[in-house]
Amino acid sequence: MKSFDQLLNESVERHGHLCAGQVIGVRMAMLGCRLVGIEDPKDATYAKKLIVFVEIDRCATDAIESVTGCRMGKRTLKFKDFGINAATFLNLDTHRAFRIVSTERSRELCKDFAPTGVDPKRQQIEGYKSMPDELLFDVRQVQVSLGEWDMPGPPRRHSVCTRCGQMVRDGKEFKVGDETLCGPCSGESYFYPAGAGNSVESETLVGEA
Ligand SMILES: [Zn+2]
Ligand SMILES: [Zn+2]
Repeated sequence: MKSFDQLLNESVERHGHLCAGQVIGVRMAMLGCRLVGIEDPKDATYAKKLIVFVEIDRCATDAIESVTGCRMGKRTLKFKDFGINAATFLNLDTHRAFRIVSTERSRELCKDFAPTGVDPKRQQIEGYKSMPDELLFDVRQVQVSLGEWDMPGPPRRHSVCTRCGQMVRDGKEFKVGDETLCGPCSGESYFYPAGAGNSVESETLVGEA
């Protein structure tokens, strides 16, 4: 694995700016790989051996992607939308998995680990860089159930929606009575026909009605 500074530089380049999230994400990914015994996640030896579950779609997630090379397009990055600055690292060979949570206390501790007299943003970045893992993270060994349909590799099943004819891959179809339905036809949808705004109350609708 490259050095922290090298990995941070790469991550910042990709992300577009240096921020606390890049520092936390790079450190989280380096620790996660080490805990599950993956020395260099981008080495061909480890191709598709590492699965990372991220729990938030914010800055640190970009850093985790950058360090590990795990991506949604390879099915090696999974997104669980919990709004928590945490990630779980799973080695598919050994089934060892660790969940790492960025602690709330670390925010307050930054000032103790940063040079004095720097501006608050710099203080945060420098603090997160130098505080020990035990203060920055809570780490727990966990078990992760990764279903057959969520594994990397070619799709294991193709189904056709009996209502609209849409092809559905990877076992993501819904059985409703006798029917095999795609997500939208089953009502599991995130979008609505334009003009249906009145029936949706608590969501903000974006797009023209
Ligand atoms: Zn950022
Ligand atoms: Zn359908």
